[in-house]
Amino acid sequence: MNNHSISAEKFNRNEEHVNWHDTALWFVRQKRDRAASTVEGWEELRSLASAIKAHTLSALDEYLVQFEQNAMKNGIYIHWAANANAHNEIVYSILHSHKAKKLVKSKSMLTEECGLNHFLEKKGIEVIDTDLGERIVQLAQEPPSHIVMPAIHKKREEIDELFQQHLHTQPSGGDEVYLTREARKHLREKFISADAAVTGVNFAIAETGAIVVCTNEGNADMGVHATPLHIASMGIEKIIPKVEHLGIFLRLLARSATGQPITAYTSYYKSPRPNAEMHIVIVDNGRTDQLAEPNFRSALKCIRCGACMNTCPVYRRSGGHSYGYTIPGPIGSILSPNIDLKKYSSLPFASTLCGSCTDVCPVKIDIHSQLYQWRQVIAEKKESGFSKRIAMKISAKILSRAKTFHAVSKISNTLLRFLPKYISKAIAGKWTKQRELPEIPQYTFLEWYEKRRKR
Ligand code: SF4
Repeated sequence: MNNHSISAEKFNRNEEHVNWHDTALWFVRQKRDRAASTVEGWEELRSLASAIKAHTLSALDEYLVQFEQNAMKNGIYIHWAANANAHNEIVYSILHSHKAKKLVKSKSMLTEECGLNHFLEKKGIEVIDTDLGERIVQLAQEPPSHIVMPAIHKKREEIDELFQQHLHTQPSGGDEVYLTREARKHLREKFISADAAVTGVNFAIAETGAIVVCTNEGNADMGVHATPLHIASMGIEKIIPKVEHLGIFLRLLARSATGQPITAYTSYYKSPRPNAEMHIVIVDNGRTDQLAEPNFRSALKCIRCGACMNTCPVYRRSGGHSYGYTIPGPIGSILSPNIDLKKYSSLPFASTLCGSCTDVCPVKIDIHSQLYQWRQVIAEKKESGFSKRIAMKISAKILSRAKTFHAVSKISNTLLRFLPKYISKAIAGKWTKQRELPEIPQYTFLEWYEKRRKR
């Protein structure tokens, strides 16, 4: 079982690093606010995007079939994968039939979710992540800690050391221009010698059978154009009905993600290049289960902008790795319990329920309400941990009986006033680890109220 609070505690041991991480993400959140404020009708745009996604999800089966038919007419091969393993097997069989041994991959959270790199490496295929942040975490043998900025947890100086070790660069004191140039040189060689390219999919348009891939580095395009084989991995929720809807999502995506008006490369792939092949693997992997849950289906509207992470006070101060799921932060915490309730039962509790995630979400997912609802499901299914369950049971008994409640309040008030601080802090548990207990009042509220009434 993954335990968010234990992993977060480890991340919090380096206070300076935590403060830096918090500031870096808040900077991105503020950029998002500035970018959103320049668009007239931003709120209407969010509502429209949310409505389009809701409509698409209500007829997803039809749109998926329409997409498949149109993509096949365009000369694209379509494959369906029920789960992560099927996805990996399909990708491998395509690569194997082309005798492809070297693969360049642009950023795709779905391939992370499926564990594609590891799977292919075990089969003897070299996989190179070509997004700079992804390449950094790949060299460090770590998973991404953010869906848009995978290496946001690493400082420039750490990347400098990593590159010295793996790319044999000179020490530069974290000079980002030098490091980026060296990464570019290294990746160019990989693009030129690759046999195939894997990309993710940001949007799949049912009406045309085309896919859209957004990057800031042009690495998806480099891979697709330098190799004769393009495999795109897409989740079933990536469908939008028409081309005319694309502009709405593109205007929201980049502004919400990084505060840019648009991603630097927004590529529309409709058919394979001459003498090249294009395949799309459409993956379910638990998504239809989520679709069947009326209270949680809207999580499938997510366009993976990362805005909910940048704004979340818990994510900013606990880091993406503490969530232990491919997609961290608020959206990951409402997607992961659907994948494995037992394993991820701590995640819906890793939130203050402040609602900031819901406020910034470009497709208006009610993230904090779903976090709250997952907590209830977890409690009902008895997945919330033994001590918490017992504490809740006792609390329910006390709070539902007025006389017991007043008696317990009185006893605990008296005890807390006279007990030495270290004992009362120990009783109060982890909450007082970094906080002081408030001064205990002389009277309980009821005693104070009764006194005033008599007067
Ligand atoms: S839930 Fe909303 S804010 Fe979070 S990543 Fe998805 S689209 Fe962006």
